[in-house]
Amino acid sequence: MTPDLPLHSDLWQQTLGWQPSESQQAVLQQLYAEVLAANGQFNLTRITEPADFWEKHLWDSLSGLAPWLDVNFAWSLPESLRSKPLRMIDIGTGAGFPGIPAAIACPHWQVTLLDSTQKKMRFLETLAQSLSLSNLSGLASRAEMIGQQVAHRQRFDVALARAVGSASTCAEYALPLLRLGGLAVLYRGQWSEADTEALQPALDLLGGTIAHIQPSTTPLTQSQRHCLYLHKVGPTPSEFPRLPGIPAKLPL
Ligand code: SAM
Repeated sequence: MTPDLPLHSDLWQQTLGWQPSESQQAVLQQLYAEVLAANGQFNLTRITEPADFWEKHLWDSLSGLAPWLDVNFAWSLPESLRSKPLRMIDIGTGAGFPGIPAAIACPHWQVTLLDSTQKKMRFLETLAQSLSLSNLSGLASRAEMIGQQVAHRQRFDVALARAVGSASTCAEYALPLLRLGGLAVLYRGQWSEADTEALQPALDLLGGTIAHIQPSTTPLTQSQRHCLYLHKVGPTPSEFPRLPGIPAKLPL
């Protein structure tokens, strides 16, 4: 039997101005059970204790969506990203984070999970079916490949990337996939003014700008997090993303 996840309704409410409905909580619990059950076979995550899973996978994933979930968030989304159903991609989703919690919290969004590992994507497709998440689909490929394909380039309103590489590598993966006016959400740990300065030249090349940086503290273990919101303000030149492996090996 999988242990129950903590509810922490008060913590959700205090930190994100949102809390899962009863049915969303049931899907989050089922997600936890299925990830644990498949962990041995697919090597999905080392975060398995209920409190850790709640904080490091569920809370952390949804903290990046605070501009949509929290009406009192410090920064206002541009109009075109507010209430309409959005097309979102989670780049390097791994075991489905942050994309699956996003699809659960925002059922009107169309969420694409992207990972280069075929095996993980096969598991995630089965998982989406068993969680009855009809707004979720999967793509087994590399960000550098789909970023050059007409079917995917400039097709998304929002791109998420957590624990996939340096900020400039993630920006090179994400910005080509966004339509003009779209938003990339980069999940980072520590972040400094020097990091912002170092990222700037890459954003100038890719057509992006930093719209907002949101610092936060995780509610259970008080770890530092920063979410970077990158606005796509100009077209990304066709040479980006570069060939597979180059954005990680030679960051802009
Ligand atoms: N985002 C998840 C999370 O935060 O739990 C998984 C992070 S895991 C450390 C990084 C994942 O990114 C791996 O599953 C890897 O296969 C995938 N990945 C790395 N580079 C990629 C690329 N260029 N395109 C697609 N997926 C990539």
